[in-house]
Amino acid sequence: MRSLTIYRLFFTDSKCYHQGTIQAQHGVQVHSTGANNPYLKRYVQPDDGRLGKNIYNNSHNNPKGTVCANAYVGKLQDGTVAVYQTLPWDMRCWLSGQGRNGNGNRMGYIGFEICEDNCENRAYFQEAVMDKAVLLTAYLCQMLNVEPWTVVQETPDGPAYAVMDHISLHNVGCASNHGDIGLWMRKFGMNFEDFRRAVDDALDEGVDVTYIDFERKDAMVPLKKGASGDRVRQLQEMLLQAGMRLPRCGADGQFGHETAAAVLAFQTSCGLPETGVCDESTWQALTAARGNDTGPSSPAVIHSSDAGAPRSAAVAGALQAMRTALETLEDAWKEAQHAAE
Ligand SMILES: [Zn+2]
Repeated sequence: MRSLTIYRLFFTDSKCYHQGTIQAQHGVQVHSTGANNPYLKRYVQPDDGRLGKNIYNNSHNNPKGTVCANAYVGKLQDGTVAVYQTLPWDMRCWLSGQGRNGNGNRMGYIGFEICEDNCENRAYFQEAVMDKAVLLTAYLCQMLNVEPWTVVQETPDGPAYAVMDHISLHNVGCASNHGDIGLWMRKFGMNFEDFRRAVDDALDEGVDVTYIDFERKDAMVPLKKGASGDRVRQLQEMLLQAGMRLPRCGADGQFGHETAAAVLAFQTSCGLPETGVCDESTWQALTAARGNDTGPSSPAVIHSSDAGAPRSAAVAGALQAMRTALETLEDAWKEAQHAAE
């Protein structure tokens, strides 16, 4: 029996989780990121004390991004290679894209990403791909009661097996044209058949999984109507700094209709879910809008709706635009990486 630890941290901010499409799963799609960053924190957030913090706020646990996996394999902050489950196993992920014969995501493939490094480090390859990813795949096969070569679907271009990588899914017309993970394996003289064989071997031995659930020690209690106190006052100050208006009550530390309306207006301005409740992501967006973390804000701006305010809103907008542009650029780069082969 081989053993594997899976840290469970669901991407509750992601589009996939919000859509929450539950489907029968028949196999596993294996991907690698195509970018040189082996650290999980790039994709998996929030920080649980093991991952480290992604200061760029561009993880896949993000309502704006489309790409979202059921699990990720990569390095913790301390360099240990670990597995994180980020969506329930029966929830549809978004990884493969569309091919001429179908879309792997919709065909019932649990999907995971392996964080690539520069693809030259054999020790990392062995541990991330040939150990952790193989064990994870074997465990999922065990759960789905399939073997690596079980045929999930016959296509005009050949059989789609239970264990596929992006390139093999593409070859049978069920995914976009990407070279993962085969390209990475080729650097070490292997191909995806070797991966399937390793999964098959692990299945013979059996895989025993221990789950460790994410518990937020700094979990934020959402602020909503009826709340009062210093946290509410801090929220109101940030809203004012972000250019929102509190004409009647100002930063009085009482979360009433006016504060709810200001939270809603702020959420609308940055494309967050419009709830009027200040949750973690709203709080973070407000902090980002305030600029660099400059510590406690000046009390002088409490009742302001002066010239400084629109500028703060403009900064928030510009930050958001930059983030979106960065993501687009990153996607384009990822495409280019794959296209280069
Ligand atoms: Zn892929």
